[in-house]
Amino acid sequence: MSTKDWIEKDYYKVLGVSASASADEIKKSYRKLAKQFHPDTNVGDDKAEARFKEVSEAYDVLSSNEKRREYDEARRLFASGARPGGFPGGQGGFSGGAGPDMGDLFGDGGFGDLLGGIFGGGGRRRSGPVRGNDLETHTTIGFHDSLRGVTVSLRLIGEAVCGACGGSGAKAGTSPRQCGTCGGTGSTARNAGGFGFSEPCRDCRGRGAIIDNPCGVCRSAGRVEQARTVQAKVPAGVKDGMRIRLAGKGASGERGGAAGDLYVTVQVAPHPVFGRSGDHVTLTVPVTFPEAALGAKVDVPTPLDGDVTIALPAGTTTGRVLRVKGKGATKRDGSRGDLLVTVEVAVPQSLSSNARTALETYAASTSDEDPRASLAAYRSAR
Ligand SMILES: [Zn+2]
Ligand SMILES: [Zn+2]
Repeated sequence: MSTKDWIEKDYYKVLGVSASASADEIKKSYRKLAKQFHPDTNVGDDKAEARFKEVSEAYDVLSSNEKRREYDEARRLFASGARPGGFPGGQGGFSGGAGPDMGDLFGDGGFGDLLGGIFGGGGRRRSGPVRGNDLETHTTIGFHDSLRGVTVSLRLIGEAVCGACGGSGAKAGTSPRQCGTCGGTGSTARNAGGFGFSEPCRDCRGRGAIIDNPCGVCRSAGRVEQARTVQAKVPAGVKDGMRIRLAGKGASGERGGAAGDLYVTVQVAPHPVFGRSGDHVTLTVPVTFPEAALGAKVDVPTPLDGDVTIALPAGTTTGRVLRVKGKGATKRDGSRGDLLVTVEVAVPQSLSSNARTALETYAASTSDEDPRASLAAYRSAR
């Protein structure tokens, strides 16, 4: 996403509130929309997911007084026709001195990375706290774990403060010195069309500091890639493809900024016997023809509660679904779905001579019954 996209985004419109909306109105509208488009209730719906992200992004900015003020200011400048510029690489953007600090607004969108790229070497000129990025990962769990709930260890590779230099970017025992050109602010003033703008200082690349002896470990970036392990609690009843948000488990913030969130997409491994249909668990149970015809008590397994006995009514046809209440998956409200048992009448693949004789006798005794009567009726009407 470019800076321009961001400024052109109308977060007020996204949340369906006026630009003068109170914090309460914003919160109320966000709650309503977040509920409506939550991925948990819109599994597989990409549009809802996109809306959910948009709504979350808008709320992230508008719910913070400081971010909202900066956003309003940026939009006001944008609307006035002013175009900030002058970043190395040609990318437009406000700089930290006079304009709002976009990086702060973008802790969750990867914009910080974009700035890092623009400034080369990962240098970050911003001086205020920066929220860490949101991270995405996925995990595969077993079918029973999906029903019981499980805690999984996720290995993540992310940025962390360089331990060798403590994040300063300067070789251990040395310190960065303040940039003389910008006096440590990281930006220099520029006048354009009556608007006072500032642009990143070219001497220190917007960092405000010059590093004479770069840290050999992070090459003066102050941050290094590091593996870490996160324990993620997957709730009971999770469905295949569901996305879980772990607040504060994303990338760590900078200079006291809050950590981002971690989004985990959960895949559920298929089970050889049980399946899933919404909050219900499905199971196909083969029965013999006599059981189906005469009725029977049949023991069937449940995924979490041992065996249950179901009463097969006389005259059960193949494909009939019998419901065992409350033996399915855990719902969001804590109650349980059902176990849906599909009956499948099994046909013997080999017959003893006794069985064959019995079946022939049976066939002879039912010869006046036509199982294809409905087809005969169709033919005669044709
Ligand atoms: Zn400078
Ligand atoms: Zn370092």
